[in-house]
Amino acid sequence: VNNFWNPVINMGNFYNALITASAYLERIFETLDVEPDIKDNPKAIQMPTIKGNVTFDHVSFRYEEGKNILNDVSFHINAGESIALVGPTGAGKSTIINLLSRFYDVNEGSVKIDDIDVRDVTLKSLRSQMGVMLQDTFVFSGTILDNIRYGKLDATEDEIITAAKIVRADDFIKDLKDGYHTVVEERGSTLSAGQRQLISFARALLANPKILILDEATSSIDTKTEELLQEGITELLKGRTSFIIAHRLSTIKNSSQIFYIDGGRIAEKGTHDELMALKGLYYHLYQSQYDLLKVM
Ligand code: ADP
Repeated sequence: VNNFWNPVINMGNFYNALITASAYLERIFETLDVEPDIKDNPKAIQMPTIKGNVTFDHVSFRYEEGKNILNDVSFHINAGESIALVGPTGAGKSTIINLLSRFYDVNEGSVKIDDIDVRDVTLKSLRSQMGVMLQDTFVFSGTILDNIRYGKLDATEDEIITAAKIVRADDFIKDLKDGYHTVVEERGSTLSAGQRQLISFARALLANPKILILDEATSSIDTKTEELLQEGITELLKGRTSFIIAHRLSTIKNSSQIFYIDGGRIAEKGTHDELMALKGLYYHLYQSQYDLLKVM
C-alpha cells in the first residue's frame, strides 16, 4: 500500500476514508485490497434524493459476537439538524457513524434515512449522497483548485472559487504564492491544520451532500482560526443534516442537539443549555475540559 493512504489506514476506521463520491470509495477498497463486508441486497433500489431525516430505531450492534457496542439506540433527526456527538473514547460515536453510512449493518433494529432502511438501497446511491469528512484532512499533491475539485470532479473554476469564498477559505488561498494554482504537497506541510480544514469545507460544499458527517480534528488552533472555521462550518452546514464527532466547543454549542454517548447508549441529549442545566455527564465534561480552554 503506498503512502498516499497511510493517514487513512492508521485511523483504523474505513469511514474516515470516505469523502463523498462512491468512485473515491471504490478506489480506497481497491487500494486496501479488501472486500467490503457490506454488499448490495439483490433487491436494492436506488436511494431517492435524500431530504435528510434520519432515524435509528432500537439499534444494537456488535463488531464481534458477545460484545455489544451499541445497545438499543433510538433517535430521530429532522432534515437540516446538526447533531454533535460527544462522550468518552470508545463510547460508540464512530460506530453510530459507521452504521449511518452503512459500513456495517445493525444486528438489531434499523437505520433509516427518510423512512427508507439503508439496507434496502444500493450502497452507491446512498453513499454518493452522503459526505464524510476526515479528521485529518487529506491533501494530495496538486493545486489548491484540484484539491477542492475533489468534491465534484466536473466543477468549474468559478464554482470552486465560489465554494471557497462561502466557507471562508478564499482569503488564505488568495494570499498563497500562486493563489488557487499554488501546488501543495501530499503531506500538506505547506498548509496549516486550519487551512486544510477550510479546503475540506470547500470540497464538501461543492459535493453538496444532504447528510454530512464530520469527525472534527482535535488539533489545537488559534482563536482567530477557530472563529474562521466556525464561520465556515456554519455556512457549510446550512440546509444539511449533519453529525459531528465534535471536539470544539463552538461547534458543540452551535449544534441543534448534543448526544452524549456513553457505553454504547445515548446517555444524555439536548442543547448545550439544556445539558448544562441538567448538571450531568455533559456538564462535567464541559467543566473538566472547556473551562481549561477558556483560560488559555
Ligand atoms: P468512539 O468513536 O466513541 O471513540 P468507537 O465507536 O470507535 O468509539 O468504538 C466503540 C467500541 O467499539 C470500542 O470499544 C472499540 O474498541 C470498538 N471497535 C471500534 N471499531 C471496531 C472494529 N472495527 N472491530 C472491533 N471493535 C471495534
